[in-house]
Amino acid sequence: MLVKSDVCIVGSGPGGALLAYLLAKQDISVVLLERHSEVSREFRGEFLNDEGEGILKKHGLFESVERLGLLRMEQIEYWHDGRIFKSIFPEWPVDHVGIHVPQNHLLTAILNEAEKLDSFQLMMNTRVTGLMQNEMGRFTGVKARNGGNDLEVQSPLIIGADGRFSIVRKKREYQSLLRSMAMIYCGQKFLLHRGGSLRSRWHWSMAPRLPSSPRLEVSSKLAGI
Ligand SMILES: Cc1cc2nc3c(=O)[nH]c(=O)nc-3n(C[C@H](O)[C@H](O)[C@H](O)COP(=O)(O)OP(=O)(O)OC[C@H]3O[C@@H](n4cnc5c(N)ncnc54)[C@H](O)[C@@H]3O)c2cc1C
Repeated sequence: MLVKSDVCIVGSGPGGALLAYLLAKQDISVVLLERHSEVSREFRGEFLNDEGEGILKKHGLFESVERLGLLRMEQIEYWHDGRIFKSIFPEWPVDHVGIHVPQNHLLTAILNEAEKLDSFQLMMNTRVTGLMQNEMGRFTGVKARNGGNDLEVQSPLIIGADGRFSIVRKKREYQSLLRSMAMIYCGQKFLLHRGGSLRSRWHWSMAPRLPSSPRLEVSSKLAGI
């Protein structure tokens, strides 16, 4: 099966679901892929602070969530050794400090609103297994298993909202590491202060662009800084 869209978002947690809704609202075609068959399969906690509540209100989602059920928190207490050591109260004119909302209600409300939009498509029970690339190395979409069937989603923009163990990040980093190691090899001239005199020395280093790259540390060590 082949699906095409402007944007492909992997993972329908709060991040992926909200982003898909906001993009679809702008008439951008979005496919949202979620490996679970129900929205309540992964526990993500239930407390949303006032900032999170504000985001729901800003995007007109708060009422939909409230209809499904939420609790306004009147006070937060921190306990240690059977004693309260900190309490947070609402600051006037607000009468509560964030909300408690079952994740099922939060996600259902967002996805229900999104499904009213023609440019939105949700595919549950769809596990992304890899990324597709063209001969230039550009990512062109994702491969997935939808139920028991193979699925390809072609999209110029792939967004990994698939959580801490993101397969999108894993696959992408591996590819970019290979590419950047092959392409980026740079030379730098260091001025070193040794034994009272200044000496210059060239240092050549590969410069992979990953955030976790040890490039700077290695360069500094080699340069004796
Ligand atoms: C136990 C616990 C309690 C928490 N309590 C709170 C709280 O009270 N308040 C709060 O604000 N935050 C809380 N958090 C943090 C909050 O859960 C995260 O910040 C939030 O879930 C991140 O949202 P997300 O959409 O980025 O990712 P996630 O919620 O992790 O969603 C990722 C989604 O991607 C899907 N996915 C993963 N891999 C694939 C794949 N290969 N193909 C397709 N889909 C895939 C997953 O099934 C999942 O639905 C808690 C976290 C935990 C673990």
